Amino acid sequence: MDPLEKIPSVGNAALSTLKKLGISTTEELLSFYPFRYDIIKRSDLLQIGMEDRAIIDGVVESIPSTFFINKKLNKMTFKIQTGTMLIGVVIFNRAYLKAKITPGAKVIVMGKYNKKNGLLTASDIRFGNLPSIPTIEPVYHTVYGISSKKVEAIAAKCLDKSFEVEDYIPSEYQEKYHFLDKKASVICLHKPDTLENLKKARLRTKYEELFVFMIKMQYLKNNKQNKIGLERKIDFGKVKQMIETLPFMLTEDQLVSIQQIHQDLESNNRMNRLLQGDVGSGKTIVSIIAMYMNYLGGYQSALMAPTEILAQQHYQSIKSLCRDLPVRVALLTGRCKAKEKKEIGKALEDGSIDIIVGTHALISTGVNYKNLGLVITDEQHRFGVGQRGNLKNKGITPDILYMSATPIPRTYALTLYGDMEVSNIKTRPLGRKKILTKVRKESEMKKVLEDMYQELQSGHQIYVIAPLIEESDKIDLKNVDELYEKMNLAFGKKYKIGILHGKCTPEEKEQTMESFETNQVQILISTTVIEVGIDVKNATMIIIFDAYRFGLSTLHQLRGRVGRNKLQSYCVLISNYEKERLRIMEETDDGFKISEEDFRLRGSGDLFGMKQSGDMNFGIADIKKDFSILMKAKEDSAEYLLNNNDNEYLQRVLDKVDELS
Ligand code: ADP
Ligand code: MG
Repeated sequence: MDPLEKIPSVGNAALSTLKKLGISTTEELLSFYPFRYDIIKRSDLLQIGMEDRAIIDGVVESIPSTFFINKKLNKMTFKIQTGTMLIGVVIFNRAYLKAKITPGAKVIVMGKYNKKNGLLTASDIRFGNLPSIPTIEPVYHTVYGISSKKVEAIAAKCLDKSFEVEDYIPSEYQEKYHFLDKKASVICLHKPDTLENLKKARLRTKYEELFVFMIKMQYLKNNKQNKIGLERKIDFGKVKQMIETLPFMLTEDQLVSIQQIHQDLESNNRMNRLLQGDVGSGKTIVSIIAMYMNYLGGYQSALMAPTEILAQQHYQSIKSLCRDLPVRVALLTGRCKAKEKKEIGKALEDGSIDIIVGTHALISTGVNYKNLGLVITDEQHRFGVGQRGNLKNKGITPDILYMSATPIPRTYALTLYGDMEVSNIKTRPLGRKKILTKVRKESEMKKVLEDMYQELQSGHQIYVIAPLIEESDKIDLKNVDELYEKMNLAFGKKYKIGILHGKCTPEEKEQTMESFETNQVQILISTTVIEVGIDVKNATMIIIFDAYRFGLSTLHQLRGRVGRNKLQSYCVLISNYEKERLRIMEETDDGFKISEEDFRLRGSGDLFGMKQSGDMNFGIADIKKDFSILMKAKEDSAEYLLNNNDNEYLQRVLDKVDELS
């Protein structure tokens, strides 16, 4: 293992950035793979699709005009002649190149071409002509403060030296699939020669990552030692009493889940359970009862929500449902004052708090517990194994319950959460009506506004999800503002409108949510940061703009914000594209069906919400796109473990896994 310092002309700045990424040797750098590749090839602008990247070259026709929007933002426009067309080019923040972009200069520009106005918005500009044969360029993640080109150059130098790679694919599978050998594929990933070889290299690398992941999942499942947990006695009579005081009857599935959790808590196996249930199926109450049981068993509980608003909401529900019980509940969020934090910390340490609610700060910071017996995470896909590790480091092994509203078809759940038991809540509380869903074009806005007005007049509230724009927060904001103006024009005289977006401070968010919860605000406009799990019963309509941009499961989640009581609720999906796919939402409101459909249509679709969990920290494999490789890796790793239960290779793989999580 050679330190990167030995590679000639790698600057100190680059070295220290790389170090922060955990890269300080040649080998480590070579296992930092490009996340995508650009094929540098002249595009035919007449053939190009809407979302395609365009690459053209030509001769500059006009002196560029530059426009300084503010200190950090400038815009330059000029025209180039490609030989067949005259194209307008727009590029941001390259005003410093103006002197070089003179009429007659040969340039290559890459970006997005808008057929309607004939403008190409460039993301990159180079000088010269395109090569006659297409080339493949690796692209590395540059969010880390080192450019892709720089990493590419360093990687090339590393490849020139002799280097070692560790191969984690056992020879029998290497042979079975005729994979490229590891070293050849590492070289190819950084310096691809042909597309065909690149494909092979990526396939073998993905398989390797997924094989290692599956070995870990299955090993954890089989390994009994990992499972020794707390044992407690629970007076179930008291639990029954509490259930009787609830304002509603629990559903059969809720009761079964409670029983399963009860058994887990009483046995000395460590609980590692996933509670799955469609949005609105009533998981929260199950988690509250789980914490009550844990309290009766003599231990503290921590409930972690993905956001502060949700934590707040859970806290309120627990307080109200446990009103007449002797449990002491507290809320710990980023908003607590230092003094308050300290007091809560102390109370957790001396055991005078039984249930603590908060965000994942509950386990990641210096919080110490007297006897933490149960950790519950809401919307589990947002938390990773890393945090589980955290708990272990503190020398405690509490039981763990994950809650997820992303319904995962059984086979996939078993693969991905192989080391977990699963409880399912399939039935919804009685009396819920199907949410009436309608797909509409933007041109039908008038009708949408009419429908909204009707709901508002009946005294109900509405969520509006603003169009999703990836590029920048600025544009995002503009969208929300524009939408606000529109809504204000239509309804502002009679109704109040609130806004939630990524730039709001936690205080602002909380205030807005509170005004919505208490019906001081009737229309809530939000970007998709709209909190999963928010529960406002009087909201009966949700309008989702640019619905085509979302996977069906995400739409289903968003839709689940309404239909939370006996009132008829409505969902309007606004989209000019992909109407066929969106129709599925009109037809069914069964989350399991929807996720199967999503899977069928887009690989695994967005089964896991928007993010992969920290568990799945792969270099290039993608659980969503590479699901079929995962299934193979699962089969093979199971077979491997069956034939080899303890050897040096297995130890090596498990060590590698620790590194990953
Ligand atoms: P989710 O599973 O999406 O987290 P919640 O736990 O927020 O769902 O429950 C949705 C709503 O249904 C809440 O207002 C809750 O009080 C209510 N609820 C839960 N269980 C029942 C039940 N068995 N009968 C009637 N309402 C219920
Ligand atoms: Mg919930």
